[in-house]
Amino acid sequence: MRNPLKRIIAVFILIALLPVGFILFELNALTENEKIVREIYENQLDAILYSINQYSDDVIGSWGNRFNIALMEERKVADSVKGIPAVLNQFVAVRNLYCTDIDKTSKVFGLNTNEAEAETSRQWLDSLVMHNQERIQQLIAYEAAGFRKMELMDTVNTTRVPVFFVLSEGTPTYRLAAMIIDLPEFIEHTLGPKLQAIAQDKFIISAFRRDTNELIYSSHGSGTPGNLPEGDESQKKSFWLLPGYYLSISLTGATIDDLVHDRMVTSLIILGLLATILALGIWFLYRNIRREMALAQAKSEFVSNVSHEIRTPLSLISMYAETLEMNRVSEEKKSEYQSVIAKEAARLSGIVNRILNFSQIQANKKKYEAKPLNLNELVDEVLKTYFFHLRDKGFSCELIKDNELKMISGDRNAIVEAFINLIDNAMKYSQDNKNILVKTGRDGNFNYVEVKDEGIGIAKKYQHEIFEQFYRAPTGDIHNTKGSGLGLTLVKKTMEAHHGKIKVESSPGKGSTFRLYFPIKKDPL
Ligand code: ADP
Repeated sequence: MRNPLKRIIAVFILIALLPVGFILFELNALTENEKIVREIYENQLDAILYSINQYSDDVIGSWGNRFNIALMEERKVADSVKGIPAVLNQFVAVRNLYCTDIDKTSKVFGLNTNEAEAETSRQWLDSLVMHNQERIQQLIAYEAAGFRKMELMDTVNTTRVPVFFVLSEGTPTYRLAAMIIDLPEFIEHTLGPKLQAIAQDKFIISAFRRDTNELIYSSHGSGTPGNLPEGDESQKKSFWLLPGYYLSISLTGATIDDLVHDRMVTSLIILGLLATILALGIWFLYRNIRREMALAQAKSEFVSNVSHEIRTPLSLISMYAETLEMNRVSEEKKSEYQSVIAKEAARLSGIVNRILNFSQIQANKKKYEAKPLNLNELVDEVLKTYFFHLRDKGFSCELIKDNELKMISGDRNAIVEAFINLIDNAMKYSQDNKNILVKTGRDGNFNYVEVKDEGIGIAKKYQHEIFEQFYRAPTGDIHNTKGSGLGLTLVKKTMEAHHGKIKVESSPGKGSTFRLYFPIKKDPL
């Protein structure tokens, strides 16, 4: 039995190794996956920031176009410049519009700008134009090629920035213009609604001033600091056109790290559960196989035990029958031989009956006929029939009855058989101290009958298993003590059928007590 068991254990280890390998692989893949997930998130956030930048470019570009159109129309209204204030009025973030023909004339338009301010602005912008001739020529070249580029020329003042653009061919008076954009205003009122539309409740998009890190705008209200994990540069982006400011984006509630960590924890929990279920499954399988193997072993021992038990009476019967046949025995011997034959035949039928009984019970075909019974009477009767048998074998048997016992209900034959089984075992497993004590009594709602011997006893670790079919405790001289390992199984099944129970108390070398409990009948007859 040991070798196949070892082989099974080896197979199990192999089976277990596969999933363990898989789990290790998954754990490794998990870290890889997390990296990919993080990258995807970051790219997504990057793409959002890109689209916001694109949008600001488009807006400022379209404003430039509007101013250009207004300036074109000036020719008709002949310097009355009504068009420009109208456009300025419309685009609140544009504080002033500066126009120049590059060489000599320049002008600054503004709604709430007094003349002195306008003049200061004009000089500042004139000097910018003078000092950035090369870049302006480039803008003109772009325009000639059909592309209007908007370009920021000065970053000294981060709240008001001049964005230059070349006016289209045919614009009267001027060639170049610059919008002086109020950046906080632009971010809050022009970009704000767009940022909110993108952010919804999934992201927090915020704009900060770069030099002071001051929060200018947040899609979640100006008080929200932006929930930006420190040092996560991929989630911050400068405005293309507005270098003094940057945008940040983060997820509401959780950072990417939190999300990735949560995913990792969930995956680890699932993997852990999987591993536990697997380990449990393998353990159960292993236990069942071990039990099945023990059963197979017990069965094969059963066959040899039973054949041995059957052979002895059979050979006795055939030996005495042959001798009788020869007719050479005295009358006295004849009756002795006949009684031996009868006794052995009875023993044989007892063995066969027990096996049949067992197979019936196993197949759930055994029928019990319940009738009101007095346990004391039943025990008395059995012991009377057993008296000579016990005496022959050198046993003393004492009976202590509780005469107050109430009636029980049960199948008489089955209970007698169970009781006899206990007496038989007490005899089989007693050695020098051949004393048996039978006792009846009441314990709660049960009547009991117990059989106590002073025999070899049963070690604690086997006391549970002796009720298993074919099981024989490996103590004592089991090879010479005949048995099939079915007796106690039958007793247990009988007790279960009677809603009763069987209990054993035993210590090796001192003896055993088996007690059968029967529920007391509710309405005693
Ligand atoms: P068996 O045919 O082997 O007696 P049982 O089912 O009646 O089968 O008993 C199972 C095992 O329990 C026995 O093999 C024996 O080891 C142990 N056993 C049963 N009764 C006693 C007892 N009175 N004293 C010691 N051991 C016992």
